[in-house]
Parts: sequence; C-alpha cells; structure tokens
Amino acid sequence: MSEMKNMLWLQSGGCGGCSLSLMCAESPNLYSALELANIRLVSHPSLNQASGRETVKILEDALSGELRIDIFCIEGSIMFGPHGSGRFHMASGFDNKPMKDLISELAHVSDYVMAVGSCAAFGGITAGGLNEAEARGMVFDGDIRGGLLGKNFLSRAGLPVINLSGCPIHPDWVMETLYQIAADSLSHSDLDSFYRPRFLSNRLVHHGCSRNEFYEFKASAQNLCEQGCLMENIGCKGTQAAGDCNIRPWNGSGSCITGGYPCIACTEPGFEEPGHAFLQTPKIAGIPVGLPTDMPKAWFVALASLAKAATPKRLSVNAVSEQITYAPKSKGKEE
Ligand code: SF4
Ligand code: SF4
Repeated sequence: MSEMKNMLWLQSGGCGGCSLSLMCAESPNLYSALELANIRLVSHPSLNQASGRETVKILEDALSGELRIDIFCIEGSIMFGPHGSGRFHMASGFDNKPMKDLISELAHVSDYVMAVGSCAAFGGITAGGLNEAEARGMVFDGDIRGGLLGKNFLSRAGLPVINLSGCPIHPDWVMETLYQIAADSLSHSDLDSFYRPRFLSNRLVHHGCSRNEFYEFKASAQNLCEQGCLMENIGCKGTQAAGDCNIRPWNGSGSCITGGYPCIACTEPGFEEPGHAFLQTPKIAGIPVGLPTDMPKAWFVALASLAKAATPKRLSVNAVSEQITYAPKSKGKEE
C-alpha cells in the first residue's frame, strides 16, 4: 500500500450540502472508505475534533510545509466581493486575510486539489442572480476559464484542479476520485475539458433513467408526479447533463428523477441560471430548445413525430397518470 495521504477540507461560499451528501456514503461509509484508501482527514469544518486555534494551527502548519497536504478539498464557491477584494469572506483566525487568498495559498502547497461541488468548480448557486458576492469557481467562472487560480494552474502532482461538479456531489464521485489518487493512478487523460473525472462525465443522467420507455415514444408527463418522460414539458435536461445519477443510485435507492423531479443539469456550468423556470421546457414552435447533445434537430423532430404516432396506449395513458393505469399485456392466457 502507498504511504498514508493527508487530506484537508475547507468550506467557502456554499451551503455545506456537499459535506452532508458525503456523509451519506454507504458501503463503505466515509470513515471506512478513508481508512481503506489510507487517507487521513486532517481537518474538516464539520468533522473536526480540533476547533478554533487548533484548526488555525493545522492550516498554518500546512502553509509552512510542516504538515504535508496531499489532497486539498474545497467546497463552496470562492467569493471575490466586494470589488474583487474578497472581504465579504475573511479567513477566521488569520490576520486580515480574505478566504480566497488562504484557499489559493493552500492550493499551491497541495499535491492534488479537488473542487467539491458545482460551487467550487464553476461558481454554482452562489454565483446566481446578480452575483453580489462575485462568486466563482477554483479555475472556472461558469464555463469560462478564469476562476481563483487562473487557467494554467497545476497542483504539485501536475494536475489541474479536479472538478467534482454536482449540487450536491454524489458521495461515490468523491470516493472514486480519492481511490484513484490513493493508488497514484489519476492522470490528466482521466479528466474532461471541464476537468471533471471522465467516470462522471462519460455518462448522461438520461442513461439508466426508469422513464426511458416513455422517452422513446415521446410519451410525456404534463405535470410533476406523473410517470411520463419529463423532457418535453417539465424541463428535464437528463439528455444533456453529465452524470451517472440513474446508474449509481443515491442513498442506495434513487435519483432526482426517480424522486419525481426533472434533472436540472446541476453538474454543468451555469445550471443555476437556465434563463427559464427549472420546471419549464423552453420551446420554439413546439420543439424543445435543449435537445440531446449529439442529435441533429431534424432527426429529433422526425423521430419524435414517428414515435408519437406509434405510442402504445399503455404508455400514452400511463405517461399522464400518477400510477400505473395500464399494465403490460401478459403473453399468457388472459383470465
Ligand atoms: S454545490 Fe450545491 S450542495 Fe454543494 S455547497 Fe454548493 S450549493 Fe451546496
Ligand atoms: S425524464 Fe429526463 S432523464 Fe428520464 S428519460 Fe426523460 S429526458 Fe431522459
């Protein structure tokens, strides 16, 4: 086994939901997973035994090099307001130091840097609206390179900031990345153009969705809590959003969509400002604007009209029902 790695976790401009999600890790749980990966959590705001001055000492030791930081995780966006000063968010226990400066200094003394959640990766929810906090991500400001660390940043292991986008992250996305780091097997080619691990972004949320049969026939729900596909009317972006949410169940059982809510593409930069209500599908001439990422519009329109013409009654009725109204026909003898 490789040498034990030290992991430091800080929170910045976010809601803490990514930490909460991480604590829901199962099989194994968070502490067992860290033990298996030979990773020591030296500090985390919610899980620390240390507090106050002791925590500041850990951070000072990390900055001075007395404490080696192998993995630095930052959760939440980096706040530059007001006017780029960062003084909206000062580092507690440090003399007049904005949090953004502390985060930058720690990133420069760490082997690997992980931006945990869409806030830390791209700005996320904190950057929504007028963005008075001037929130942005570690390396990206939305989909533009130019976050806190600049577009050319490489950590001491020679990798860019690893962006685990999602609002919140799936705990297993963190675990899988940590396992790769622990095994010294994570390389630049394992990351996509937004520096997200490919195990996350090589999948679409649409893959494995339990509503796929409805999607194929364009049998669409008209309202939340109906069973049909949520793309045509209820704003689902599962065909355009990176993530294996419907293959790797959350909390052992489901996803947003199995819970009855459309995918809002929270793993993608800028998801917080879609330009329309989350539960609406913007359309032009009745055709959804956001089509599957790799399908030409003309094909989609042709396939959709063919599929609609061929929709079995079972699907068209069930799509707008809250429960199964028509069961699949049995091949055996009807009673
Ligand atoms: S990405 Fe979402 S869940 Fe995570 S800290 Fe930001 S707002 Fe909270
Ligand atoms: S509800 Fe969304 S993810 Fe599910 S099949 Fe429809 S478009 Fe795909």
